Amino acid sequence: MRLASSLAVLAVIPTIVVASPGSVLPSVPPTMKPALGEKGYAFPVYGPSSFGDTFGAARSDVSGGWHHGDDIFAPLGAPVLAVAHGTVFSVGWEKVGGRRLWLRDDRGNLFYYAHLSAYSPLAVNGAIVNAGDVLGFVGDSGDAEGTPYHLHFEIHPIGLVDRGYDGAVDPTSYLRSWRHVQTLQLDTGADWTPSVLGSTAPRAGAVLLGSSVLPALTR
Ligand SMILES: [Zn+2]
Repeated sequence: MRLASSLAVLAVIPTIVVASPGSVLPSVPPTMKPALGEKGYAFPVYGPSSFGDTFGAARSDVSGGWHHGDDIFAPLGAPVLAVAHGTVFSVGWEKVGGRRLWLRDDRGNLFYYAHLSAYSPLAVNGAIVNAGDVLGFVGDSGDAEGTPYHLHFEIHPIGLVDRGYDGAVDPTSYLRSWRHVQTLQLDTGADWTPSVLGSTAPRAGAVLLGSSVLPALTR
C-alpha cells in the first residue's frame, strides 16, 4: 500500500515547520533504506570521485547532531548532476551548506546538495531537470571552506518527509548502485554566465512557499 501511505504523508503535512538553528535536539539517524520508486538514478558527480560511508557520524553543528549524508570528494569544479528527473528548489546560500540546492524527483523523494563552488543555469527555483543535467560544480562553500573539495549529498525518501530534515537515509548503498554519467548534457541555449550574486533562496528558518510537500528544512 505504498500509494496509500504516501497519501497519508501528504495529508499530515499541511504546513512547513522549520526548526530554529541552535534549538536542535539530538535525534537518531534512520536505518531503513527504502526503494525510491524510480529507475535510472544518476550518480551526482561527473568524473573521478570518491566517497565513504560517513552517514550518521557525529556533527555538532548539524540538526540532530549527526551527518545527514555522505561527502563525495572530487576536484574543484567537477560537474554536479541531477540524480533524477525532477524539480530544483531552495537554491541559494546557507551558512552551513554554502551554495546549496534541493531536488525533488517525480515520486517526491528529496535530494540535498551542498558546498557547491558555482551553479549552472539550471539551478534556479522551479527548474525541471533530467537525470544527468549539470546543476553546478563541486567546491568547498559554507562550513566546508578550506576542507578538501566535496559534494555533501543527502537522500530524503518521500516516506520520511514527516520527520523533517531528520528524514534522511544513508545514501551510501544508493550511490554505489547508481550509474555514472558518461556524457554531460549541457543546454547550449542557456546563459552560463553567473547571474545571481545575492541569494534568492529562503533563509534558514523561512517558510518555503509554492510547494505542497516539503520537509522541515533547516539547511
Ligand atoms: Zn557532509
